[in-house]
Amino acid sequence: MTLHSNRSLLDIDRDHLIHPVTSFRAHEARGATMLQSGKGMWLTDMEGRELLDAFAGLWCVNVGYGHDSIVEVAAEQMRRLPYATGYFHFGNEPAARLAQRLVDLSPEGLDHVYFTLGGSDAVDAAIRYITHYYNAIGKPAKKQCIALDRGYHGSTSTGAGLTALANFHRNFDLPLRWQHHIPSPYPYRSDLEGDDDGIIARSVQQLKDKVAELGADNVAAFFCEPIQGSGGVIVPPVGWLKAIRATCDELGILMVADEVITAFGRTGPMFACEAEGVAPDLITVAKGLTSGYVPMGAVLMSDKVYQGIADGAAVDAVIGHGATYSGHPVSAAVGLEVLRLYTEGGILANGQRVGARFEAGLRAIADHPMVGDTRGRGLLGAIELVADKGSKERFDPALKLPDRLFAKGYENGVIFRAFGDNIIGLAPALCASDEEMDMIFARIRKTLDDLL
Ligand code: PLP
Repeated sequence: MTLHSNRSLLDIDRDHLIHPVTSFRAHEARGATMLQSGKGMWLTDMEGRELLDAFAGLWCVNVGYGHDSIVEVAAEQMRRLPYATGYFHFGNEPAARLAQRLVDLSPEGLDHVYFTLGGSDAVDAAIRYITHYYNAIGKPAKKQCIALDRGYHGSTSTGAGLTALANFHRNFDLPLRWQHHIPSPYPYRSDLEGDDDGIIARSVQQLKDKVAELGADNVAAFFCEPIQGSGGVIVPPVGWLKAIRATCDELGILMVADEVITAFGRTGPMFACEAEGVAPDLITVAKGLTSGYVPMGAVLMSDKVYQGIADGAAVDAVIGHGATYSGHPVSAAVGLEVLRLYTEGGILANGQRVGARFEAGLRAIADHPMVGDTRGRGLLGAIELVADKGSKERFDPALKLPDRLFAKGYENGVIFRAFGDNIIGLAPALCASDEEMDMIFARIRKTLDDLL
């Protein structure tokens, strides 16, 4: 199948644009899949083909494509004041109001917000603030950080060390001195499948063991996604997050929830931590904050960490972390409008309603002969394919299933993400209608049938 015919644009792209997370040679051979417009749940490619986007871009376009009100606030802010950071004590109305809004909407105690350009630098900022915090409170040895296997925490030179996916380390082998990992609570691939309490207890023990191995006085923080996204949408048992929060307290380490994917209604509530009544010490967000319309992320910081840094710093000593575009007024104005759409615009409520249909769709497709497991919460889900349902044997990587799945899905008019060698990731926008949700599953089923 030819996915594109606009040769000149494709040639320009191939010759000059480096795409993220892509093999240079494979890209030269295959070329880009050029998109031209989007509306609601739908994308249109350069050939005019209409595609149902079951992945909200890159799990970010939570409100859907083509909201004029977002375009209008961005244009208005650009006209009035397109940039405002300059001297670092300069402020601007949208950034201050967005910070307040995030404090109001997030779990109790996260009273301070630092804005970034996306998720990776939000994780980096969290690491740097944590380092500063422990120096400020007189515990300078606390520098080691722990995260989960299969976790994704961005691809900057610092945060990529917390990411535990092979592609992000291969040939980027800068020594990892302070990043450590414990196994992921992955029910389907656990010998304790079905025993949620057992999985939680084992995970808690693994964290305790790792801290004991490193020495509690040397460990700064535990980073985790409430549901692991890029690692294959791994949904830990209910209660895991709460148990981890209690364990971090017991061990005297900070808990950082990386909610870059899970925040803003993706799993139902505004923040995934809310579902278990968990208030981490720091939360990182991005993606749904601006719904992908402009770049922006943030670190939400507890008062404890903020006051520790503030009290430990000499009054006039600058805290040397920041970027030219921190608190960008155009991004912040977009963020405010996106948050308004979630709440007053009813998009969060629609996401919760249609999320139940999504979860039912996942359960229903589990009967397909290629499907070993389906899992999800709210509008975040995965279909894990297996060569054999009984033994859970994976498909041979030589079959290049992810490429074939994507191509066949595209032909059937649905876009999803294929992870590893056998997992379909799904994250439709929160604006989906019942009909669109049913259409997603019908098109995925056809795609699997076509590959049988
Ligand atoms: N953290 C998590 C949990 C993510 O899923 C991602 C991106 O997918 C990141 C961090 C990095 O965010 P960005 O791609 O905006 O840098």
